[in-house]
Amino acid sequence: MKNLYNALLLKQLYQLKQLGYRYTDVSLSTYKESELNLPSTLVELKKQASSCHLCQLSKSRECVIFGEGNPDADILFIGEAPNSTEESSRSIFVGRAGEMLTNMIEKVLLIARSDVYLTNIVKCRPPNNRMPSPTEAHSCLPYLKKEIEAIEPKIIVTLGESAYHYLTGDDVTMAQIRGTINKQENYTIIPTYHPNYLLRNPSAKKESFADMKLIKHTMEELYRS
Ligand code: URA
Repeated sequence: MKNLYNALLLKQLYQLKQLGYRYTDVSLSTYKESELNLPSTLVELKKQASSCHLCQLSKSRECVIFGEGNPDADILFIGEAPNSTEESSRSIFVGRAGEMLTNMIEKVLLIARSDVYLTNIVKCRPPNNRMPSPTEAHSCLPYLKKEIEAIEPKIIVTLGESAYHYLTGDDVTMAQIRGTINKQENYTIIPTYHPNYLLRNPSAKKESFADMKLIKHTMEELYRS
């Protein structure tokens, strides 16, 4: 898998840099082909992620917070990274942002939280709850891609700019993408605000409510077709 190969190369380069190397030729020929493939089931993926050391977040984390929810979900939500509340409760989206997200799912989409799937761009908490760095996000992307492949959601809701950016590779602002739907071959991406943003900017809840309606409407259209 190209992403995992690149992530392993990045890790190797990072380690060599720590040792003082400035220029070097790296190769992953010591890895067997099978070792470069991530497992396809969520259970096995979670197991592998739990002992992942592809980026430096593995040094500071207490535990890995893998995605949770319905493995057959039609809607998959992608956040940014777990924070200290999630890390101490060992579960995804349980803090104030989680409460806000759960309300949006249950009170506006009228779906039980356990019927959707929730995950993050990175599965380990960045120190001081900072944003994940591009290296950390890219190292973790193979897990997200495999989660998507396993779940086969119809709709992916990206929470905040960075979730959209790392999923699509597009460097865009929320103002440019909010209210749009991005049809991909296997799923449709609908961007919306991150619940942390809504906690800081309650006036944006109106737009977020409209986004939930758009998700609901798109879902109904997909069921009809
Ligand atoms: N909790 C998560 O799991 N992800 C976020 O992006 C924010 C809080």
